[in-house]
Amino acid sequence: EPHSETLLARRQQHFARPQKNYYLKPPQIERGWKDHLFDIEGRSYLDMVNNVTILGHGHPRLAAAVGRQWSLLNTNSRFHYASVAELSTRLAALAPDGLDTVFLVNSGSEANDLALRLAWAYSGARNIVSLLEAYHGWTVASDAVSTSIADNPQALETRPAWVHPVTAPNTYRGEFRGADTTDSYVRSVVKKLTELDAADEKLAGFICEPVYGNAGGIPLPKGYLDAVYAMVRARGGVCIADEVQVGYGRLGDYFWGFEEQGVVPDIITVAKGMGNGHPLGAVITRREIADALEKEGYFFSSSGGSPVSSVVGQVVLDILTEERLPENAQVVGGYLKARLEALGQHFPLIGAVHGMGLYLGVEFVRDRETLSPATEETAAICDRLLDLGVIMQPTGDHLNVLKIKPPLCLSCESADFFADMLGRVLEEGW
Ligand code: PMP
Repeated sequence: EPHSETLLARRQQHFARPQKNYYLKPPQIERGWKDHLFDIEGRSYLDMVNNVTILGHGHPRLAAAVGRQWSLLNTNSRFHYASVAELSTRLAALAPDGLDTVFLVNSGSEANDLALRLAWAYSGARNIVSLLEAYHGWTVASDAVSTSIADNPQALETRPAWVHPVTAPNTYRGEFRGADTTDSYVRSVVKKLTELDAADEKLAGFICEPVYGNAGGIPLPKGYLDAVYAMVRARGGVCIADEVQVGYGRLGDYFWGFEEQGVVPDIITVAKGMGNGHPLGAVITRREIADALEKEGYFFSSSGGSPVSSVVGQVVLDILTEERLPENAQVVGGYLKARLEALGQHFPLIGAVHGMGLYLGVEFVRDRETLSPATEETAAICDRLLDLGVIMQPTGDHLNVLKIKPPLCLSCESADFFADMLGRVLEEGW
């Protein structure tokens, strides 16, 4: 059995370098159970970052269903079998009225890529407005609308001409700090649309996460999406809600992020949690938008919605509902947020606690007036948390926000453990 360090060396030699692991010396994880991971030495870690396994790790019912379906049938998705129809029907039922047509794919990047293609095909235009600091995926089109400089320092210089990023209405820092009226929040979008109108450039659509995720789980101000969607639709554009991270119960009371804004998008993209780690994603939209793709031929994804993937999708929904995991996200998330805010009373490094449900961000600043981002401190805190048995990573363009996205089965004891350990690290020196 090769030693962990030998394996790490092999990884460095043969696994392409851009596929980074956050830790310089990552623990070698062997097994997961609920909200915990275990390394080869048997050390346990509380998994506070995992935005994929929403049910928790090692769910026996999901594992059994996958095994059963694999032994019955798995094939490419060109055939007709029951589970693809059943999963599509359930997804359509989960979406708002009118969004009743489903594409099944394998990942969030693919879902967003397809959503952009649909927006282009339906509108007959090319220009897409997106929010700065966003991440929407790695494919050519989904990467183009991703403007996170933490993920890609060159992001802003290398966007194709059809991408029009605008500053997001982050009322905590930046040009929208303290903004408090809808007119002020939407000014970056108005400015961009006015420029496009003046140049006689048609609009294909607008894409954003309905809770501003990559920046640290920051909710959009009330009324923001309502106003933006109206302006986009007035120009014939399509409104895409990227629910890959925020959707599917992570926000607690809001199954979808757009519910928090009280809007209905034209296209919903979903992935990550919907497969609990199995590659599964979807685009949910209106029939006429889906049909627009026929102009370009047909759509086919070999494994998107395969028999195994479609069964996974259904069992995930069964477990999510039966174990009342969105309710758990609401209750435990609320409890955790209160504990983190209480830490903020003692430690000035905590500038703000963002988010809702089990989608939280603790933003570290060196000064609460200037909001100078505490980037090095955040990295050191994450490293120290690993020593104490907590997996945590920084997020946001300044990498100064703790990215709190645990499995939705997070227990109150685990929430306490996390808050206790963070308190201990802050007590030690920040
Ligand atoms: N959209 C958002 C908001 C995401 O967070 C991610 C993944 N981090 C993606 C899209 C891309 O999903 P995937 O990695 O499954 O391709």
